[in-house]
Amino acid sequence: MVKKSLCGLTADEIFDLIGPLNFTSSHAVSISNSIYKKRISNISEMVKIPYRLKEELFNIAATGIYLPLASEVSADKSVKYLFRTDNGKQFETVYIPDNKRNTICVSTQSGCRMGCSFCITGRYGFRGNLTAGDIVNQVLAIPQADKVTHVVFMGMGEPMDNLENVLKACSIITAEWGLAISSRNVTVSTVGLKPHVEQFLQRSDCNLTLSLYSPFSTERREIIPVENKYPVQDIIEMMKNFPLKKKRRLSLAYIMIKNLNDTDSHLEGLKSILKGSKIRVNLLSYHPGNNDKNCSSPAERMQFFKHNLIISGISASIRKSRGADISAACGLLAAGLKQ
Ligand code: SF4
Repeated sequence: MVKKSLCGLTADEIFDLIGPLNFTSSHAVSISNSIYKKRISNISEMVKIPYRLKEELFNIAATGIYLPLASEVSADKSVKYLFRTDNGKQFETVYIPDNKRNTICVSTQSGCRMGCSFCITGRYGFRGNLTAGDIVNQVLAIPQADKVTHVVFMGMGEPMDNLENVLKACSIITAEWGLAISSRNVTVSTVGLKPHVEQFLQRSDCNLTLSLYSPFSTERREIIPVENKYPVQDIIEMMKNFPLKKKRRLSLAYIMIKNLNDTDSHLEGLKSILKGSKIRVNLLSYHPGNNDKNCSSPAERMQFFKHNLIISGISASIRKSRGADISAACGLLAAGLKQ
């Protein structure tokens, strides 16, 4: 019999597992607390659980918590971790400490099938979806787990291409019986699979960020192939019109590449598509891969974009670049995996 992995189950699903054995919903919550709050990887060490329940659990379940296989520390103290699932899927996770804000960047797939031309993860190919348990485990299994304040779904993979597992992981991460991290501190990124973006907006309270690259469809199509099927203009319109709950944040990630997407006309294009919206713009440096002749826009140009967006009534910020020296920065994950 294949044992059920407890990490990745909701409290209700844990109750479905143990209810027929005459245990109660409060036992199910004790199990979820042991997994998600105390990060206990061995059933025998679980707390507030009767001995008979532990014995039954041994027969039908495993905690599903597994450790990273390797790690690499950046000069800026970011740490990249390599994980491998039971069935051999590899993926990376990055922990980014920053004063009181400690962010973990999780993967949702091993590789990716979106094929964005600037992204090394895309070049690694697609090896499969991660389960909700694989996603949540990344937050639980790193040594800094108790320090994590923010979770971003910006590692390997396109989260909207693995929507059900991502939605479930978000609910476990934010639930009181789960990791109890505020949905305001959880952000999922996408290149824009429109029908799934719409479902995500409706079925989750977590933040959403859309990777733009260019405000012009013809240009974006060359870099982000999904633009051919789901034009970003339509997605931005949908985001603009979506009734937002208080403090939920929708944003655009704009990676700035010198002389490619940082011209005055790009700035005007950005202003035009965002006019009248509350969508925030995060400007990011570009990290070239090997043999890449492109380079990031200089800091002054990024400041120029930020200033002009702000005085046009669009909220904008420049995101600090972290972990580039260990290939942990945006678009570089998978650089350390076997191609
Ligand atoms: S940018 Fe994101 S969606 Fe595009 S290939 Fe890379 S991981 Fe996939």
